[in-house]
Amino acid sequence: MVYQSFLIKYAEIGTKGKNRYLFEDALIKQMKNALKKVEGRFTASKEAGRIYLQAESEYDYDEVIDALKRVFGIAWICPMLQIEEKDFENLKKVVVDYIGEVYPDKHFTFKVDSRRADKNYPVHSEDMNRQLGEVILDAYPETSVDVHNPDVLLKVEVRKVVNIYSQMIPGPGGMPVGTNGKAMLLLSGGIDSPVAGYMIAKRGVKIDAVYFHAPPYTSDRAKQKVIDLAKLVARYSGPIPLHIVNFTDIQLYIYDQCPHEELTIIMRRYMMKIAEEISKKTGCLALITGESIGQVASQTVQSLAATNEVCTMPVFRPLIGFDKQEIVDISEKIGTFETSIQPYEDCCTIFVAKHPVIKPNLNMIRRSEMNLAEKIDEMVQTAIETAEVVWCD
Ligand code: ATP
Ligand code: MG
Repeated sequence: MVYQSFLIKYAEIGTKGKNRYLFEDALIKQMKNALKKVEGRFTASKEAGRIYLQAESEYDYDEVIDALKRVFGIAWICPMLQIEEKDFENLKKVVVDYIGEVYPDKHFTFKVDSRRADKNYPVHSEDMNRQLGEVILDAYPETSVDVHNPDVLLKVEVRKVVNIYSQMIPGPGGMPVGTNGKAMLLLSGGIDSPVAGYMIAKRGVKIDAVYFHAPPYTSDRAKQKVIDLAKLVARYSGPIPLHIVNFTDIQLYIYDQCPHEELTIIMRRYMMKIAEEISKKTGCLALITGESIGQVASQTVQSLAATNEVCTMPVFRPLIGFDKQEIVDISEKIGTFETSIQPYEDCCTIFVAKHPVIKPNLNMIRRSEMNLAEKIDEMVQTAIETAEVVWCD
């Protein structure tokens, strides 16, 4: 069956009262954005609390479903037969053909669920259910009716046109990107941060990203890996401007001036500060990291508190209570895992001490940072000013 129309059902945005149209418009915008990468022309429209997608040319079905499955805000994708000829005798034929084509194996139970939005339609919905059920049973005697728990629930909606559908393909849920402000993702080449970005984007937040690299200690390959990861996240979140900050001088300076076991914490404090400065310029209202309690020395509660202390913006840590395996499962599901496990060096691991502090004392950290007073502000400014922006789409 070649479908020309899809009914797009949304979940949470349906509860937004007066602002609902904003959510619907954002969803349509994100659908169009996702379909830009797919061959074919499409139009999307709103009608009475629903969103329809029409194919205006030939297209690849699997590609379209794949793209829609990455649009946050979509609860269900229903490929739909839409007919303008409303005559009931014709409708019976169409329904029989539909079942014939969509379900090659006829050993299933079904129920017809008809709705008459057009109250002038001569056949009442109860009659439609019964009569359409009968013609299906006649045409396919292997089928049977089950009104409580059918294998196939056939929806027939008489509106301006007649919509016929029975398949519901799950979308990703969440809210359309663009409905909840913008946040800055600290994106490394690891497994966690791409998942963190995905999870916050899923709540409708637009994503910018920042990556700290330390050439020549980290290679161009490592940078490319982060760009690749940003592109993978962008398949869900829409285009991501990735700010690539050269962190080498700052890292070396900290290495020279501060106790090595505090290096990671101090470095992370500067990453947060710089991310926050860039956020202020680009309109991001929060930071996002892939931290999870206890995963490494820099993610004990004490370390997280020490890192967090420099931030004035909220820091979203969507993975905070997740086990590593749970994070891996999501990264596999969203398609970032394979890229994340490529073995390129990370700027954090190059200078790490053998025995980093796991319970940093804030007073000591602040005292160590005083050793940086002479040059650090200028270095931070330079790092921000020289950041390169790569659009990842
Ligand atoms: P990930 O898998 O995301 O790399 P991780 O388990 O390796 O996380 P850390 O290296 O301690 O943990 O980093 C914690 C978080 O800090 C990361 O999830 C990321 O948000 C941020 N981060 C770490 N290194 C960088 C970097 N080089 N550039 C940008 N953000 C970074
Ligand atoms: Mg890492």
